[in-house]
Amino acid sequence: MAKIKKGDTVEVISGDARFSDQPGRGVRGTVQWVTPKSDRVVVSGINVVKKHQRAVRAGRTQVQAGIIEFEAPIHISNVMLVCPRCDERTRVGYTWLEDGRKVRLCKQCGEIID
Ligand SMILES: [Zn+2]
Repeated sequence: MAKIKKGDTVEVISGDARFSDQPGRGVRGTVQWVTPKSDRVVVSGINVVKKHQRAVRAGRTQVQAGIIEFEAPIHISNVMLVCPRCDERTRVGYTWLEDGRKVRLCKQCGEIID
């Protein structure tokens, strides 16, 4: 079971300078998608890279030259889940509901995070 899912709020804990423009606190964002092997995540507003696009003509299609900005995936070990209840970044635990369903658990406050 994945520790991080699409739609989660996560905090970036990497020491990379790009991620630490808010002193004393990691940058937070929402998970846009998780790669199929679930070892990388794309987080809104995090790790935005600029790519210079040259003008390309392929048949009738003309691609404008310019700078494209997009969010590059970051490794899942560089983010921690932010608990929606206690608003702290937390380790993820697991528990089972009465109906047998496995769910995630905030190890800080015990909140169940589905
Ligand atoms: Zn919590």
